[in-house]
Amino acid sequence: MPFFYCMYNKISDYLFHMEALTHGEAKRLWRKSIKDSWNNCCAYCDGTPITDKSLTIDHVKPRSNGGEDLLSNVVPADRHCNQMKGSMDWREWFKMQSFYEPWKEYRIEYWLQHSVVLSKEECLEALWINHSIDKFSEFVAA
Ligand SMILES: [Zn+2]
Repeated sequence: MPFFYCMYNKISDYLFHMEALTHGEAKRLWRKSIKDSWNNCCAYCDGTPITDKSLTIDHVKPRSNGGEDLLSNVVPADRHCNQMKGSMDWREWFKMQSFYEPWKEYRIEYWLQHSVVLSKEECLEALWINHSIDKFSEFVAA
């Protein structure tokens, strides 16, 4: 199994070039593409862009709990958020933070499933539509 088995979706663009790269280079490009997708911002607190090494790759499900190096399990996080979260469940931890907002949770959720970072507007729209569907279902069921 080649070392770049974890490259898929958007990163598939890199695959062709991966074969010429060392494991370290491939890993660096993989991490960079994740950060680029998020404009170098922490997925949790959404602060100012971070272009140095203090922007880390957070394993949503910690590696200590069997979380893998897959796009469906990683988000960029600044050191502070990454350390605070530790090995807690990301949703539980996130909802306790002052910077928590439902649209940000949705944005992470969407990224983990589709490897796409939605805009705030797209998240709010999706949440509003889901909310409306729930309300409609309640209305029909009543
Ligand atoms: Zn943060």
